[in-house]
Amino acid sequence: MELYIEQLDRLIIIDAGSGIRELGDHMMAQHADGTPIKAEIFLTHTHWDHIMGFPFFAPIYLPSSQFTIYGPVTYEEEPLKEVLSGQWTYRYFPVRHEDLSSKVNYVNLKEGRYDLGDGLALQTKYLNHPLLCLGYRYEFMGKVFCTAYDTEPFRNLFCTDPTDPGYDAATAAEGEAAAVEANHRIGQFVEGADLLVFDTQYTRQEYFQSRIGWGHSYIDHAIGIGQKYHVKRLALFHHDIQRTDDQLDALCQQYCVSKGEDTEIFFAREGMEVNL
Ligand SMILES: [Zn+2]
Ligand SMILES: [Zn+2]
Repeated sequence: MELYIEQLDRLIIIDAGSGIRELGDHMMAQHADGTPIKAEIFLTHTHWDHIMGFPFFAPIYLPSSQFTIYGPVTYEEEPLKEVLSGQWTYRYFPVRHEDLSSKVNYVNLKEGRYDLGDGLALQTKYLNHPLLCLGYRYEFMGKVFCTAYDTEPFRNLFCTDPTDPGYDAATAAEGEAAAVEANHRIGQFVEGADLLVFDTQYTRQEYFQSRIGWGHSYIDHAIGIGQKYHVKRLALFHHDIQRTDDQLDALCQQYCVSKGEDTEIFFAREGMEVNL
């Protein structure tokens, strides 16, 4: 996903899945006159679907290009650079990371607030995913853009079945309160966003049938958060790879809400542009 801040001429790219190849080609065409390409790339996490496009991102092979790559680290002894550069080894790709011509800096992020300069502020938040995954909240000139992918609702991790021998009422209540609080903190993180892009891989039925614990949300959950926490526009994102366009159209009939309502709701699409 590309976030372009026109007033600063700063380009932020969030994640490097298959879509970054086309973005790279577009950037190459824009810089055909030889002006250097500069961008900041924020990785939410390093699951394959979020980094697989990187080796096919043409600007990274230009000596004049400069990139800063930000992302969370799960294990301190395995820095971001190492995790990513693993893709550029002869085992997987014909070019090695050492042979990339562009200047690439790596910055490890944790949960917190960061000043990105020029009045651009960033807040990061750990989400609920099998691998450490960060949500990003960018604020500039009173506008807020927020991402929450990949994530699923926090849930009570303790036994809630009173007939189960391992059941303990106090522990169950504690687990419930912790889940409610963790979900509330996600809500506060996205509060009032002008645009929130939220993981909605599943429908409610799919999620509760067999996908709990897989690290992805369902549509009603995202909409609930968007509405409760006064999000202005909500982009439903990270569609299940099995979903056809017709199925998405049908889901849109059911869920999309156009401008004028409290929260505008739409499905994210490749090539879509949203002005904040
Ligand atoms: Zn993931
Ligand atoms: Zn993913």
